[in-house]
Order: sequence, then C-alpha cells, then structure tokens
Amino acid sequence: MYVSAEETQANLDEGRIVDVVMRYWGYSALRPLQAEAIRAGVEQRDSVVVMPTGGGKSLCYQVPPAMTGRTDVVVSPLIALMKDQVDGLRQCGYPAAALHSGMSIIEKREIGRAVRAGDVHLLFVAPERLVKPEFLDWLERVGVRSFAIDEAHCISHWGHDFRTEYRRLAMLKGRFPQASMHAYTATATQRVRDDIAAQLKLVNPTMLVGRFDRPNLIYRVVERVDQNEQVLEVVRRHANQAVIVYCITRAETEGLASFLGLHGVRAACYHAGLEPEVRRETQERFAREELDVIVATVAFGMGIDRSDVRCVIHAAMPKSVEHYQQETGRAGRDGLEAECVLLYSPADGMRWQRLIERSAEQADDPVEVSRAMQTLLGHMRGFATGNTCRHKLLSEYFGQVYGRDKCGACDVCLGEVTTEVVGDPRSLALAQKVLSCVARVEQRFGLGHVVKVLTGSREQRIHSFGHDRLSTFGLLRDMDSKTLSWMIYQLVDQGLLDRTHSDRPLLKLNAASREVLDGTRPLRLAWPKQRVVKATRMEADAWEGVDRALFEKLRELRRQIAAESGVPPFVVFNDVSLRDMARRKPLTIDGMRQVHGIGQKKLASFGPRFLELVQAHCGTTE
Ligand code: ADP
Ligand code: ZN
Repeated sequence: MYVSAEETQANLDEGRIVDVVMRYWGYSALRPLQAEAIRAGVEQRDSVVVMPTGGGKSLCYQVPPAMTGRTDVVVSPLIALMKDQVDGLRQCGYPAAALHSGMSIIEKREIGRAVRAGDVHLLFVAPERLVKPEFLDWLERVGVRSFAIDEAHCISHWGHDFRTEYRRLAMLKGRFPQASMHAYTATATQRVRDDIAAQLKLVNPTMLVGRFDRPNLIYRVVERVDQNEQVLEVVRRHANQAVIVYCITRAETEGLASFLGLHGVRAACYHAGLEPEVRRETQERFAREELDVIVATVAFGMGIDRSDVRCVIHAAMPKSVEHYQQETGRAGRDGLEAECVLLYSPADGMRWQRLIERSAEQADDPVEVSRAMQTLLGHMRGFATGNTCRHKLLSEYFGQVYGRDKCGACDVCLGEVTTEVVGDPRSLALAQKVLSCVARVEQRFGLGHVVKVLTGSREQRIHSFGHDRLSTFGLLRDMDSKTLSWMIYQLVDQGLLDRTHSDRPLLKLNAASREVLDGTRPLRLAWPKQRVVKATRMEADAWEGVDRALFEKLRELRRQIAAESGVPPFVVFNDVSLRDMARRKPLTIDGMRQVHGIGQKKLASFGPRFLELVQAHCGTTE
C-alpha cells in the first residue's frame, strides 16, 4: 500500500496524497503548495518551505512518511509544541512519538522499541538531542532517511528568533548524506531563506514560498485614546472566544488583565517575568478553554497551538511589521474569520524610539543597529497611520503583489475610516491653540499640564501657577482630555513640537512649531473618529447556515471529551468541523463522515457521542 521509489520517480498524483489526508485528517483538498512540499518529501529532494502561520506546514512533513512507510525525524524547538502535535496526531490514528528530556527511561525505551519495529512514522526531537553522538548512531541504525526542521529560521542570525542549538544542525547533512532535509518556516525574507539553505547545507533545494496574505484576517487600526476601555470593547465583541492581547511591558499586561477580570472576562497575563510553572499553567488553561483572554508580552506565542483564536489585539504598536505579522498570525489558524485590532497612539513610536536607543547602546555597532531598528519602526508606523488597504500593504511589505484593490476585510476597504485632507483647517486651528499654550506656559510644563490648561481644569495646581488667567485657558474646553493628549502626541510625532527626554518630559517649541504658528506650514492630523464596525462578507459566509445554539452545545461536548481524555479541545475537533457539523446536522454515522475534518479514527472515537447530541438537539427543536 505504500508508494514505491519508482512510482515517485514518475509522478505522484495528487489523488494519492488526498487519500492519505482524507483517511487521517478528513480533509478533502490540499492547501496551496502542500502537494509540492509533500512530493519533495516523498521523493527525498531537499526543500525549504515558507508558508504563513496557519498555512498548513505540518501536513507537509506528516504525509510523506505515511505514504512511504518511513520513520522521519522532526526537529522542533519546544517540548510543549511537540506534545500537542503528538497528541493531535494520535487522535487521528497517526503513529507519532516524541523523545524529550521530560520523559522517564521506561517511556524512552518503549518509544525506541516502537521506532525500531517501524511502528512510528514521525519522531519529534529537540535540537539538543540531535547532536548527541549516541543518539545519532542510533538513528543511523534505525535507517532514518528524512529530516524535517520546523521553525527553521531559528538557525539564522537574520531571523527574529535565533537559537544556538539550531546552529549545530549544520552537521546533519554530513552525517546523513543519503537523507533528505526539509526546512519549514513562516519567516518571510529572502535573506533568511537563503541563510537556512546555506546553514543546513541543502543540496539544490526546492524553494516553496507561499503567499503571505491571510485573507481570513480582518485588520483594523484604531486611535487609542483609552486603552482599557477600548480593549474591553473589542474583547466583548468576542465573548466566549479566544483572544490574545499584546502589550509592550510586563506591568501593562498585569494591569490590563486585572481590569478585564474586574469586568467579568476570564483573562490572565503572561510574560517572561512569571515563574515557568505559572506560565505553563496559564498556557494550559487557555488551551483547555478555561481562559478566554491572554494578555501578554511578545514572550507568548510559539508554544501556542490553539487554532481558534478569533482575535488578536495590539494594545500598543509593535516595533516592526515582522512582529505584527507574526503576532497577528496567531489568529484564525483554522482558516475561519478572525479580527486583528491595532490600538495606535503616536506616543508608541516615541516609546520605541527611546527603547531602541537604549538597546542599541548595548550592541557592538550601535549606529548600524539603531538605524536598522529605526527603519523597521518607520515601516510599522507607516502601516499604522496609512490609509491604504491593510492586506495590500502587508503583502507588499513582504515583497508580494496583492492582486486586488479592495480586500473587503480591513477597516479602510470597509469604509470605517475617512481620509483626511492635507491642510485641513480644523487641524491647523487645533495645532495653533496647542502651540500657543505651550508658549504661554513658557515651555516649562509637560503634556498633562498643557492639556489641563487648554481644557480649563479647575485644579489647584493650575490656579497656583496663575494659568487659569492665561488667554489659552479653556480654549479647548469642548474636547475631552484623552483625545486632546492624542492630538498633541501626534504633533510631537510629526516633529511639529518637541518633547524632552527627561523623567518628566517638557513640551518645547521648535522651528517647525513657529511655521505652524505663522500659518506657513500645511499640516494634517488624524482625528479620532466615531467608528462603526461593519460586518464583513467573510464572517457572514463562515456562519452561513450554522445553527449557533447547536454549535455552542457541540463546543461544550468537545470540552467534556477533551477533559476526559486529557487533551486540549482543539485536538478533538477544530472549529471548522464543529461549525460544519452545526450546519449539516448529520443524523447518521454516514452523514457524520461527510463533516469536514473527520477522519476514520475520529469518526470511530467521537462520532457516536456527537451524533447523539445532534439527534437530541434536532429532536427538541423540530
Ligand atoms: P502552520 O504550522 O503552517 O502554522 P498548521 O500545520 O498548524 O499550520 O495548520 C493549520 C491548521 O490548518 C491545522 O488545524 C491543520 O489541521 C489545518 N489544515 C492543514 N492542511 C489542511 C487542508 N489541506 N485542509 C484543511 N485544513 C488543513
Ligand atoms: Zn483592505
């Protein structure tokens, strides 16, 4: 039943691949580039496969050994990630195992026996293990003919997550000259790609680069005037769904998580300063659906495999488009619609600027490093402040042409934002009021104070400086302070006003400020707008015909079964399957077989219980 070498030399037809995919995973079609990547695996041609997060990389290395009867080795950086994958594969009836330091001798011996007997198609190992001589000898005896390197960008200095252990994988090719090597990553740039091939000493590798656009993600950039309230508003749009919120600092994650908690949201924070056990526990509670929202720093991500994250919120702007793409990439990995909201304030750019300067000081080449980081930051700022389709901008940033004018899945294309006019008189008038106020307080006060004067605060402090007698006092009484602060940050961000770098930063006028005061400099400010979040076509389609009440019942059953079997719910069935089930409402096992993502093993293990639930539901509603 396995594919022979001669057969693959000819041409492996896609139907044979789909048969295997259908049997284990219940998917009836392949995603872009999967067929090509699988062929390279089966035919043992070295390859570098670059696909965006959620693109379906795992299938590409899971299918070849199942088609050829081989035992392939997968190198994976995190134990948590390995465990989830092995659990998931076993639920599909696919023989996989992992070897890692957290296991007992007995467990390891058992796996060794299974591998030698040819009962395991995929063996997951950490890179540290792969460089141990005795382990390599063992692999040689077992006759391993193919290696898959997951998260392969970790081998490159140019990637965003360099790991020294990965560097040592360079010796694999010399040690196993007959084996093929397949590198997988979601990192985009050409430089990283070439570096991976060079480091791993790949021979004439097939380069497969997928499309970076994620059509199921809906991007929104919103002016941040009140972080907590705005995050809460978005989280409420996704009640009972999985949401990740990214913040810049640890303290912010803690503050925001407790704020959400006070408002009845099941939220927890996650950052590198927490004890490893606390972090693991949080991650597991999120996986088990006991937590809906994780408020995290960039430290949270790689180990998370929950595919039904419906929303990623950036409470502040990240420092590069690469980071943004990576972090938003964790939404909607199941291919269903998901929302990505960036709360942007011009203050973010300034904050990063300071952090960049500080971290560049530590580098060997501060000027060069700082310049590179400034460039990345500049692009991110361009994304946040731009008024062009977000999908288009992201695609182009990663060097790909975006074929359409309107995506239908970003705030710009949905018409949620209005474009501003250069030289808009409202902006000029506001800027002049702010700048004259800075002049009136003799450039000796900070932003908060200037805001209070302009909005006519009755605070004692204002009175004691006699600032309630200034001509600018109360000049912008109708504006709320948060909005006004936002506008002032914009003036600073655009270089029309200076803000000192001291502990208590002061506002100072510069040459550009004077031009604005003279009215000789046109300017454009973005005004926080009342936004109406519009429904997208994609969301409507993804819920088309789905019985929502049944969907929630199915979710509950999935949670129960997962708890009983000690695996995360998404390992039982993903949301695509549950929605499809709540759409088709199968009343027989045969009908259940038609549901998306149900392979033979899952049909046998879970089919009957889900069927019973669907029948009961239909019995009560009809
Ligand atoms: P990546 O590793 O590229 O981020 P995964 O391999 O985790 O992505 O795949 C993302 C999701 O898509 C998983 O739930 C996976 O089962 C599913 N998937 C992969 N290939 C297909 C396919 N051909 N049809 C339907 N779903 C698929
Ligand atoms: Zn768009």
